[in-house]
Amino acid sequence: MPYLFNLSGQVALVTGANTGLGQAIAVALATAGADIVAAGRSAADDTAARVTATGRRFLFLQADFAADGAAMRQMADAAHAWQGRLDILVNNAGAIHRADSLDVSEEDWDRVVDTNLKAPFFLSQAAARHMAGQGSGKIINIASMLSFQGGLRVPAYAASKSAIAGLTRALANEWAACGINVNALAPGYFETNNTAPLRDDPQRAPAILARIPAGRWGQPSDLAGAAVFLASRASDYVHGIVLPVDGGWLAR
Ligand code: NAP
Repeated sequence: MPYLFNLSGQVALVTGANTGLGQAIAVALATAGADIVAAGRSAADDTAARVTATGRRFLFLQADFAADGAAMRQMADAAHAWQGRLDILVNNAGAIHRADSLDVSEEDWDRVVDTNLKAPFFLSQAAARHMAGQGSGKIINIASMLSFQGGLRVPAYAASKSAIAGLTRALANEWAACGINVNALAPGYFETNNTAPLRDDPQRAPAILARIPAGRWGQPSDLAGAAVFLASRASDYVHGIVLPVDGGWLAR
């Protein structure tokens, strides 16, 4: 692994790494040399197997990201305690609720916003306390095309993903001086559980595909390069960006 992208000796905490984009990011960071802490509510045995196959170490932490801030602090502390360091945090776990805005309940709103916005803030805060002590760290939030656009029938998701872009910039401004880079990845339309209802929709599926200049939906591994970039020395002077990885969706 070239020096600029080499993560050997580093510890990365990836949330929601049991499946989809989080799993691909965890495997990419491990392939670049990082040991992985996977935090989530579902067991991550498949991810564990893929990470350890790269020769890296793996730890699973049980967590519900719709929980309170104290749980986020405990998770960051446990991740740090594992090897006495915490170098990379990827706030990937995310929830979506599809319904007409007239029908969204307060409970559904809170679950989405707590998972996609509140948990990343308090987990970042707890991780940054460790990173500031080390004098270095990388925080990567997972944004969305709905950090730039409104979408259809996903108001809480669009609000939370727009807010995570603002939070990325706010935290970057405060923590750059501590040696911490805060940035975001904005995936386009990727084939994961999150988008299964869209891919099954006979109207939405072809309409989405027709707008993607690359001519295909993203595969989770398409995020690997951008994730390693934002986690590595290669991005040391990059702060507060929201990097689209979208097959050209936003260029249309
Ligand atoms: P996914 O396969 O549905 O994965 C979502 C992950 O978040 C899973 O690990 C899930 O755990 C976890 N999660 C959700 N709610 C949670 C909670 N309350 N507590 C703990 N974990 C929770 O979808 P994905 O596409 O990989 O999504 C990953 C991230 O990318 C999300 O932030 C999503 O918004 C974002 N994103 C996805 C796309 C796309 O096209 N797929 C595009 C833009 C952004 P369980 O497996 O236990 O449910």
